[in-house]
Amino acid sequence: MLSNSLVELDRAHLIHPVASWRGHEQAGVRLLTSAKGATVTDTADRHLLDGFSGLWCVNAGYGHDSIVEAASRQMRELPYATGYFGLGSEPAVRLAAELAERAPGDLNHVYFTLGGSDAVDSSVRFISYYHHAKGEPQRDQFISLEHGYHGSSTVGAGLTALSAFHQGFGLPYPWQHKIPSSYPYRNSAGTDDASNIAASVAALRAKVAEIGADRVAAFYAEPIQGSGGVIVPPRGWMKAMRDTCLELGILFVADEVITGFGRTGPLFACAEDDVVPDLLTVAKGLTSGYAPMGAVFLSEHVYNTIADGAGSSAVGHGFTYSAHPVSAAVGLEVLRLYEEGGLLANGRVMGARLMEGLQSLSDHPLVGDVRGRGMLAALELVIDKERKTPLPAAAEAGRRIFERAWDCGLIIRAFAHGCIGYAPPLCCTEAEIDAIVEKTRRVLDLTL
Ligand code: PLP
Repeated sequence: MLSNSLVELDRAHLIHPVASWRGHEQAGVRLLTSAKGATVTDTADRHLLDGFSGLWCVNAGYGHDSIVEAASRQMRELPYATGYFGLGSEPAVRLAAELAERAPGDLNHVYFTLGGSDAVDSSVRFISYYHHAKGEPQRDQFISLEHGYHGSSTVGAGLTALSAFHQGFGLPYPWQHKIPSSYPYRNSAGTDDASNIAASVAALRAKVAEIGADRVAAFYAEPIQGSGGVIVPPRGWMKAMRDTCLELGILFVADEVITGFGRTGPLFACAEDDVVPDLLTVAKGLTSGYAPMGAVFLSEHVYNTIADGAGSSAVGHGFTYSAHPVSAAVGLEVLRLYEEGGLLANGRVMGARLMEGLQSLSDHPLVGDVRGRGMLAALELVIDKERKTPLPAAAEAGRRIFERAWDCGLIIRAFAHGCIGYAPPLCCTEAEIDAIVEKTRRVLDLTL
């Protein structure tokens, strides 16, 4: 009864992100009431295995009392402190320092935001400050990748390549350019790693030449493209793109909003690829979804150039909730759980098991590709393996796959173009990973 009236209230009043508003009114909300470990419970008291960590964010898993205690302690002691007027709070300082110590290379300066979209937006603004400070204000053109996702603020949505985020804004802006992503399964440049990487490098060079080498501000890339369908470039791709940016004199930004904090194994995916970007954006796993927070890391030269350029003037960028003390307290405890609590280590072991399990589905008639790294994976579904023919009406098929998985007690992400995405919590047990694979096989059989 209570849940029925809540469904009506939701229908009448709550606007859901990235949803068909009319479709949602018809379907109604599925309300979740509680969660523990990797399992969420709905109002009908159904238990579902969360194979997607909410929205690839609850990396630590649900129900950690120590995180709740860290947040409530901070709320009691100091629920808010602005970073304006030279003020601050202890957890924000400590978290910045802990993160800087662990970040690749000299990414020593951390700017906290509320999530990933405003981290990306902030990075664009910092890059603009940087080039103005260097006396190169004409460097105002940005390049990102097809299939890329960089948030849904207006600027980030323009860097994003998914057309659903562009309608009605004239996006991408004329200063936002795209090049093909490395997409080994579909890339026409060939499937061997070396030619795939060479094609991406050539595309970046060609785009920079087309725009004008002295006009390009920065190149953005996710180490693994998440919302585009968990597209995994070959090992060495990031390094080659980073090195090309260095050679061309443009900034390289790694958007690790999904890949950060153990999702692919280490705290930062680019460290594993031996890459130190000029700027790095994170969110999601930073607080594991227990409180909203994102961050932009600036390397020494980016930070110092902006600082020297501004001199005694303010760098005009900030939010009321930048470096929120409660989110920072949560971030500190989450970081402790990743390391001392063994979550990173468990995630590595479970990630290997997940990949092995999903590989065992590659003989299924619908599975064209199995890909992933760590606890981030996808199946790409096709109706003809030879020709790699996508599922017909893939968006509708995706909705049905999501429903069937739900009915089997599993939450996965069904992408609009026929991919199934996995991002389970790092706390998963062997039995839970095996259940994800087993339930997926059932869903695929029902989809045949
Ligand atoms: N960048 C990437 C790579 C993302 O995957 C996302 C969200 O999924 C964002 C930015 C935006 O983050 P948020 O949804 O926290 O605004």
